[in-house]
Amino acid sequence: MIMQTQHLNMAAVDNHSAELLVILVPAGQTGFPSQAYPACLETLIEHYKKMGDWHSESKYLLCINPPEFKASRILLVDTNMDIVKADAKRISNVVSDVLEQLNKAKAEIIMPPWLQGGELLIQALFHASYKFSDYKTKTSRREEISVTLLVSDDSLDESLDYARALHNGMSRTRDLANMPGNLCTPGYFAECALALDEQFATISTDVLDEAQLTELGMGAYLAVGRGSVHPGCMPVIRYVGAEPEEPAIWVIGKGITFDSGGITLKKPPGMQSMIYDMCGGASVIGLMAAVAELKLPVNVTGVIATAENMPDGDAFRPGDILTTMSGQTVEIISTDAEGRLVLCDAITYAKQHQPALIIDVATLTGAQIVSLGSHASGLMGNSPQLNQALQQAGDESGDRAWTMPVWPDYQDALDSPFADMRNAGSQSPGMITAGCYLARFAGNTPWAHLDIAGTSFQYGTGNSATGRPLPLLLQFLRNYSNLSAPQWSINTDDCGFLP
Ligand SMILES: [Zn+2]
Repeated sequence: MIMQTQHLNMAAVDNHSAELLVILVPAGQTGFPSQAYPACLETLIEHYKKMGDWHSESKYLLCINPPEFKASRILLVDTNMDIVKADAKRISNVVSDVLEQLNKAKAEIIMPPWLQGGELLIQALFHASYKFSDYKTKTSRREEISVTLLVSDDSLDESLDYARALHNGMSRTRDLANMPGNLCTPGYFAECALALDEQFATISTDVLDEAQLTELGMGAYLAVGRGSVHPGCMPVIRYVGAEPEEPAIWVIGKGITFDSGGITLKKPPGMQSMIYDMCGGASVIGLMAAVAELKLPVNVTGVIATAENMPDGDAFRPGDILTTMSGQTVEIISTDAEGRLVLCDAITYAKQHQPALIIDVATLTGAQIVSLGSHASGLMGNSPQLNQALQQAGDESGDRAWTMPVWPDYQDALDSPFADMRNAGSQSPGMITAGCYLARFAGNTPWAHLDIAGTSFQYGTGNSATGRPLPLLLQFLRNYSNLSAPQWSINTDDCGFLP
């Protein structure tokens, strides 16, 4: 989608030619709340009220050849004056549906001065324009949608730049996440990470290969990919937007390009959706692009913990004991609890680079879907302030997360008779046990974990991958870049990590 702003003298809006002019009408208002809106708009609404076409229940009205207006079509859409996410979604859906019906590609939207939450509307318009049809040989190709925001000043410019970068990042994330497992392999992730290095002068990428990961002692990470013909790797993407010596925020994404479950093979229903087990990794690619596009004054390092989990004669198996990069040993209960195995070594790697903090993002457990569904990502961590900052960024961006406890009480589920821990609890609340497992590797480095199993994709909905939690992460980094000296104290009593 192409989106731009254009200055318009509102007093002359009736003289403005447009294929489709969108006018937002405040819900439940008898008139417009500001003198900034001209009388011609009041007259227009009155006209359709008299005809009975526009009334208190109206959600939208398409007016063809409206009287006294140069625009050939006007779309009246009801809105709250303070737009929340649901309004933004509804308005953007109406606009894109009407464009589709009319087979038109251009809309012009008057952004009135009284409107609050315009940024959410801009983001929703971008979001509604996303289509994934790369693998359909026959598509109804249409011109790219173009939206012009008609404004009276420059106050929306920053919001538009932010929304555009977020959209570009989310589209990358969604495209990558929607790709099938035969094409999106760990090697393909490496190519995407290296492409960022090519595209942005502020980004440099290293791809650690299996030999280097072996050298580092990543026994858990490497075990996961052993059954696959696609070699594992670990792309590390560095963005420098602040002084180079300032500690970076490390964002680690789970990128299991296909998760068959391994020897603990999954059952067929739903297995096809396991191409989405790399949504965390895909969101790291999108995030790094968005951060670089916005030139945020922070240092961010993105890591893709990627492998393919397949059964094979050389695959790791239940009962195996693996030595992680941290030195801690893990007894494998289920080879399908593999995400935490790549993540734990990536977290240890990040810790060795003196990070400001670590956030990991993963489609980690079905239990997250049972607990929170598609409405909120599961948030766990060892720093109350960091949890709070992330939850706040989720609220602000409409991409919510909900903090779950990782109390020491839950740690017992990971006790193993043979190793330091096991990789899955039985009869335990799975989302929390997974968080407890990762907490043992984060130790006393500020760390948070986002379980995005239910929020990052909705299989079978056409566009499936949602691009979440990019809005939350980017908002967090945007807020972070405005903090002078962020402090993240560690609460090991509540978190229960074992020193
Ligand atoms: Zn799995």
